[in-house]
Amino acid sequence: MKVLVINAGSSSVKYHLYQMPDAEILARGFVERIGEETSKLSHFFHGKTHTVSTKVEDVEKAMELILETLADKEVGVLRQISEIGAVGHRVVHGGEEFTGSVIIDEKVIASIEKFADLAPLHNPPNLAGILAAQRNLPNVKQVACFDTAFHATIPKVAYMYALPYELYEKYGIRRYGFHGISHRYVARRAAAIMGKDKYDINAITCHLGNGCSVTAVKQGRSIDTSMGLTPLEGVPMGTRSGDLDPAILFYLADKGYDAKALKALCNKQSGLLGLSGISNDMRNLEEFARKGNVRAKLAIDVFCYRIKKYIGAYAAVLDTVDAVVFTGGIGENSVFMREKICNAVTQIGVQLDYAANQNAIAKEAEINTKDSKVKIFVIPTNEQAAIANDTYELTSDKQPIVSKQNSSGNIAQKQMEIPHGRS
Ligand code: ADP
Repeated sequence: MKVLVINAGSSSVKYHLYQMPDAEILARGFVERIGEETSKLSHFFHGKTHTVSTKVEDVEKAMELILETLADKEVGVLRQISEIGAVGHRVVHGGEEFTGSVIIDEKVIASIEKFADLAPLHNPPNLAGILAAQRNLPNVKQVACFDTAFHATIPKVAYMYALPYELYEKYGIRRYGFHGISHRYVARRAAAIMGKDKYDINAITCHLGNGCSVTAVKQGRSIDTSMGLTPLEGVPMGTRSGDLDPAILFYLADKGYDAKALKALCNKQSGLLGLSGISNDMRNLEEFARKGNVRAKLAIDVFCYRIKKYIGAYAAVLDTVDAVVFTGGIGENSVFMREKICNAVTQIGVQLDYAANQNAIAKEAEINTKDSKVKIFVIPTNEQAAIANDTYELTSDKQPIVSKQNSSGNIAQKQMEIPHGRS
């Protein structure tokens, strides 16, 4: 069965076509700069690259271009698009309703629309991708995989903010957490590497990319995570501030900043970029810091210190920690940041093997010494393989669907084993 995985954002749509159940990638690519004059499709298949520069107005047009390309006589990998057996979509916000991936029906669509209020930059393009795929592949089952779903197991004590309770009841203001597909994937890989059952691992998973979040995983389930109502909370990120004293915002409001300016400030002008005044890209900051740039060094130090605080807090929350896992662009590639972070948290029992760390670039590796009480892993995330797997398991007849009742009704939802996807 062939499964198409779609990650539709406001300015780009990424796709992966998998042969399941082995999660073998048949083709992948992306359409970028959607809505601009200079949109571009990049398509990778059989070790070759095909690019098209053409204006792509919106997500719907991007989906059409992707499907045409996949079934193109020269560069396609399908004879016709009807060979696609199911489509899996990444959806950022599933609110409290979704504890796992689900087959999309009208109720699910209405919920994704409803939660756009909580993720205005993400859910609308995610939904546009779903609707476009439905229009182009009307007889094909579509599955939604939520970034929030893995965090549905966070207990109330960890997800409530100390605000008037009515705000939770009225507006759903609580911690939801994000990057859940990634945290789940790497936690389960870590369990597999350690020869443990997926529900027998306590881990602190650090997804450090442009967006960054840290999660406490107890017995395979998320019990706390650094991102909150939105992906703004937690550790500092490329351009996002992470945790702040909320009074800073009132103070700036008194100085004349309106809500729009404050949103832009915290989301686009802060984090590594704001601190350094140079770049949101860790590679640049490492380079500048090596050359003695004081602000680049400050940005790196603050980033590391704040991650240390989360790791320390989650070690306390978990009682015992089996593994610390690094993933995301920084976690997978930055030898320097991993060393800095691990050396800052030796109290929890991690001991880094420097040579192993040096060699672990963009590949799965154990980077602790033999004597380390706590394992340290680098695990490249593979959200698309996780989505492909959920989609396959929910839509193929070969696997039973695990149904789970939740507060909103009888929705079949899936949080299952994930094969190690190949690319
Ligand atoms: P996104 O969250 O957008 O998916 P990524 O997971 O690709 O982003 O992570 C992007 C971040 O990873 C950037 O800050 C980039 O500088 C960083 N990164 C990628 N490669 C390296 C590297 N070799 N050393 C340090 N940082 C790196």
